[in-house]
Amino acid sequence: MRTEDLTVAVIGGGIGGTAVATALAQRGADVTLYEQAPELSEVGAGLQISTNGQRVLQALGAVSGPPEGTTVSDGTVFCDASSGRDVARVVPPRTGPTWYMHRADLLNVLVRAADRAGVKVELGKHLVPGSAQADLVIAADGGRSNWRSAIDGPDRPQFTGQVAWRALVPCDPGSLPPVAQLFMGTRAHVVLYPLRGGTLANLVAIEERHGWIEEGWNIGGDPAEFQRRFVDFRGAAGEIIGRTKRVHQWALHLRPVAERWHDANTALLGDAAHPTLPFLAQGACLALEDSLVLAAAVQTATDMPTALALYQSERQARATRIVGIARGNAWRFHLPKPWAWAAHLVLRLGAGHLSRRLEWVYDYDAGAVISSGSGGSVP
Ligand SMILES: Cc1cc2nc3c(=O)[nH]c(=O)nc-3n(C[C@H](O)[C@H](O)[C@H](O)COP(=O)(O)OP(=O)(O)OC[C@H]3O[C@@H](n4cnc5c(N)ncnc54)[C@H](O)[C@@H]3O)c2cc1C
Repeated sequence: MRTEDLTVAVIGGGIGGTAVATALAQRGADVTLYEQAPELSEVGAGLQISTNGQRVLQALGAVSGPPEGTTVSDGTVFCDASSGRDVARVVPPRTGPTWYMHRADLLNVLVRAADRAGVKVELGKHLVPGSAQADLVIAADGGRSNWRSAIDGPDRPQFTGQVAWRALVPCDPGSLPPVAQLFMGTRAHVVLYPLRGGTLANLVAIEERHGWIEEGWNIGGDPAEFQRRFVDFRGAAGEIIGRTKRVHQWALHLRPVAERWHDANTALLGDAAHPTLPFLAQGACLALEDSLVLAAAVQTATDMPTALALYQSERQARATRIVGIARGNAWRFHLPKPWAWAAHLVLRLGAGHLSRRLEWVYDYDAGAVISSGSGGSVP
């Protein structure tokens, strides 16, 4: 299709929405991005962007290398929560090191690229299904998407029995190593890594808990309760938890990957199509990948239904596989003793294998998928 002749409405100004708006505007389309919030902004939290996501940012011209403040990872260190000691170290993937970025910094580079590409932005606009007038409508409205319900049927969330806490804690530059430390406890785990030149520690703590099932990124939590619940954690995790003054919490829910990703002219993208638990750090990377593949499909196909079918067929198998691995990881770091000792031994012996096993995740080049036709291949 001649993308220069197309009008496009993108619903949602998160990472997926800004990326796809940019990709299509760069191909000449007339793109308007609608965001319900009064500004394009992200919550105070970190993101790990592996090489598959970095490639998209580079292809969009949003970055040429790690943007200022990014921590370039030296791998992942698994630690025993009760002693704080290292259990195993996983070196960076062969494809290159992951970047630890503040969400706001990632969104900023994308918003600047969108602006350069001529994307029009309408803020404070909550669009309901059916209300957008354009040749192509892209619903990038997040994991609790209303637009998905209109295309794929009613929302069917299932509480996982896990509650997540998140916090950003100021720290002295250099006090945290440039690695993601994963502390494995009994029925709980904590992930810790540095952000913004090491001046902040990004903390995500997961615990098994029943009876509280609220969803949402901005539900405040009580730091004293947080500290009580994770009192057994030692090492850097214990130290940072002890200094936490502001914390948020939310209950983790499972939603299946959508079966239908599109109708005649509306496509789901990012979490709206494939919400994921955060245990493989790939949700934002998948949303970035979607954006390049969808833009290439629109450019390549002769009509919109064919383009959207091509997009789904190139993306669904990979997204489903990755979401499945994240889901499988959910309990792996929470084992009670003696299972935990056995799991730690397996980790120690298999650490090298771990990063090789996930190489297909990090090695994906979303920009080459449609032209090479290799996108659907998953092991
Ligand atoms: C604790 C945690 C850690 C994570 N860590 C990582 C990580 O390290 N690496 C990684 O790759 N991913 C990670 N993720 C996943 C990642 O955050 C998401 O996959 C990603 O943000 C999805 O982007 P999105 O654009 O699809 O949706 P969202 O970021 O949810 O954006 C949706 C946007 O749409 C807007 N919107 C919603 N409805 C409407 C409407 N009707 N009209 C207009 N606007 C609307 C919203 O306001 C929002 O701005 C993590 C997730 C969690 C919970």
